[in-house]
Amino acid sequence: PTFDALGLKDDLLRGIYAYNFEKPSAIQQRAVVPITKGRDVIAQAQSGTGKTATFSISVLQSLDTSTRETQALIMSPTRELATQIQSVILALGDYMNVQCHACIGGTSVGEDIRKLEYGQHVVSGTPGRVFDMIRRRALRTRSIKMLVLDEADEMLSRGFKEQIYDVYRYLPPNTQVVLLSATLPHDVLEMTTKFMTDPIRVLV
Ligand code: AMP
Repeated sequence: PTFDALGLKDDLLRGIYAYNFEKPSAIQQRAVVPITKGRDVIAQAQSGTGKTATFSISVLQSLDTSTRETQALIMSPTRELATQIQSVILALGDYMNVQCHACIGGTSVGEDIRKLEYGQHVVSGTPGRVFDMIRRRALRTRSIKMLVLDEADEMLSRGFKEQIYDVYRYLPPNTQVVLLSATLPHDVLEMTTKFMTDPIRVLV
């Protein structure tokens, strides 16, 4: 199995190879195609499996960079993780002219607003700041097509449940949802039932 077989855009493939990935990991082999076809996917995966690149490649494949509207929203439990995800998106999307902003607490609200108003194809953030930006109408949700919930179990155990649900209520109906979690406790499963339609499950 190669990245060439996943049906990806040339400028994205170029970014993947320039990042020195040679072949897709198990989760990438199983999840990238269903996600890029628009399916909701629950991936039970730990870090170290290549989960970040799985959703980053899928997000990049789905972007229309001829507009700067926000098309994908990624939420994760920590500022560090949200920033790492932003770096991976920018690196893999190096040949795509992609704008990706990290929307995280502890940074300037004014700068966040300015960056969002300029236009960001992808926003990677923590739930609190993301919801704040939506409420201020700095982050426009009407063109969002994909929501990624990374480390969902960790987000819930850190008390982000209410903010995740608050964000979800602002997304267009039928937004595609991709959820990654090391474990699937009751509150994570409850979220999958509320947010997802006929999801595919991938266990790696
Ligand atoms: P993650 O599971 O997202 O924490 O990724 C774990 C590590 O695997 C990161 O350092 C990635 O850069 C690396 N990685 C992800 N996908 C691949 C791949 N297809 N080939 C080589 N390394 C990869």
